[in-house]
Amino acid sequence: MSVVFAVAETVNLRGDGGRVPLEDVLIFANPIAGRGRGEALARNLEARFKGDGLGARVLMDRPGRLLAGDVAGPVRAAVVIGGDGTLRAVADQLLKLRPDDYPPLLPVPLGTANLMVRHLGFRWSTPQLVEGISNAVLARRVRMLDAGRANGRLFLVMVGVGIDAHIVHELDRLRQGPITFFSYLAPAVMTFRDFDFAPLQVTVDGREVLSREPGVAFVGNVKEYGAGFPVLPFARPDDGLLDVCLLPCRTRTDLIRLFLHAAAGEHFLSEGAVYLRGREVTIASDREAPVQMDGDPVGHTPVEIGLLPVQLPFIVP
Ligand SMILES: [Mg+2]
Repeated sequence: MSVVFAVAETVNLRGDGGRVPLEDVLIFANPIAGRGRGEALARNLEARFKGDGLGARVLMDRPGRLLAGDVAGPVRAAVVIGGDGTLRAVADQLLKLRPDDYPPLLPVPLGTANLMVRHLGFRWSTPQLVEGISNAVLARRVRMLDAGRANGRLFLVMVGVGIDAHIVHELDRLRQGPITFFSYLAPAVMTFRDFDFAPLQVTVDGREVLSREPGVAFVGNVKEYGAGFPVLPFARPDDGLLDVCLLPCRTRTDLIRLFLHAAAGEHFLSEGAVYLRGREVTIASDREAPVQMDGDPVGHTPVEIGLLPVQLPFIVP
């Protein structure tokens, strides 16, 4: 069952007992998002929210250090301008609050890939961006979603070990300036040329489900993925479980076959593929294999993955 629900007009009780709308909107912006357009958008939003009769505070460059005073009063929403990394940093800060106090998150990408925005179903277009965000905050439809931790770090979408992780590690090593679709081209070609799949050992809830088999492993919470096809097609973001997809792959020929299957959305049917759900997943390998979380390079195996005991609120269209 879906848990989308609308908070039609959330109210709080002030000292005088009067009912007033939740009113503050926090605006987090990565100052370098969209080549500096992040700050301009944050200021435009601040003015718009004030025009809407809400309070607004812009917290530039602060996702990594939310202060207790920032959420001392009622907060209607936390707008996060930037990529998945900025969103994760803000979410990580919210987790320091009491769960009842988590403001719902509204991620807004700006020239950066944002897998979570895609998942939530927002299709922001530049001309109506400010108006669309304002409408979403006023409507405040909230959906509670699971969030994961891998090696102590928060992730919202997916953890990958294998070729995708190689590509994002390689991209990180080569990159200069903002990432575009074409930035992935050279790392992808190099990864395909050089990649030697590490044998992976995968355990789900204490049971070994892959035993020293070379391949690719995806563990996550939502379907969508940057590659444009759902890597975890059966994932539900609110079921308290992680979806796990393991794709054995020994050779480049296997990899091509896997890629073709994936393009058809049938990778989980390929030979030897394992698809299951669980709460605790560990991925180890004899030699270090790169790990990506939500599309960012984050270290190497071994990696321990689980869900947080709390869910995070997100504003949905
Ligand atoms: Mg799930």
